[in-house]
Amino acid sequence: MKKCAFITGASGGIGSEIALRLARDGFEIAACYHSDEEGAKALDSALSDMGVKHKIYKADVSDYKNIKSIFADATDYFGGVSVLVNNAGIAQQKLFTDITEDDFDLLTAVNFKGVFNCCKFAVPHMIHEKSGKIINISSMWGVCGASCETVYSATKAAVIGLTKALARELAPSNIQVNCIAPGAIDTKMNDNLSAEEKAAFANEIPMGRFGMPEEIAGIVSFLAGGDSDYITAQVITADGGLT
Ligand code: NAD
Repeated sequence: MKKCAFITGASGGIGSEIALRLARDGFEIAACYHSDEEGAKALDSALSDMGVKHKIYKADVSDYKNIKSIFADATDYFGGVSVLVNNAGIAQQKLFTDITEDDFDLLTAVNFKGVFNCCKFAVPHMIHEKSGKIINISSMWGVCGASCETVYSATKAAVIGLTKALARELAPSNIQVNCIAPGAIDTKMNDNLSAEEKAAFANEIPMGRFGMPEEIAGIVSFLAGGDSDYITAQVITADGGLT
């Protein structure tokens, strides 16, 4: 039986590349998106063109009940989820003094509770199967912290903490939990930067350029496959040498 990969934020720049890459690797795809109907439709038709069994779910990762029902459906439809990629996330640039309580609640709900929710409902089947891979998308800012991105950085650091702890707890069940910490990747998430700001930022990166979503998808592909079975509780930074 083919294995199913569940990807959150799959309508986005990095998420859609992850979904397509894992489909090419032979996985069936459960793809979750929040509000980008156009991105979701594009992914749906690309996966259909590839002839891959898939289902697109509209969901809010921060909503516990919503995620519970989606995992129930995915377990039914695909016979269980073997690979979970927690990729959904939102960013915010604000001075610490301008951050509101609502900002804090939204960022922590999506970026951290969303990871908890999806792990919560993916793990029981993986434990039953004594096999599974969880790949969390953090950020280089979760490793070293970014000025004007205090809460974003903190949520991404929390994802790293969850990864390391859960990896140790699930290791005896042959489930690997790892984390990727991307640097600046060329997606909509950086659309707030002007062309000049992007060029200045790229100049600070030793490799002199932003990363591409495909480059993150390639790491996910490795972590989701059999060649990485002895790797767990790791944070793989992909930032062109910036940090
Ligand atoms: P993106 O904005 O293109 O995609 C974000 C995705 O998250 C979208 O599909 C969106 O629908 C989804 N999402 C947002 N809120 C959601 C919610 N409540 N429920 C479900 N899904 C929701 O951004 P991206 O660059 O592709 O980011 C993907 C991940 O990579 C994020 O976790 C981001 O923090 C991380 N990241 C990105 C960069 C970068 O420079 N682009 C750098 C480091 C880490």
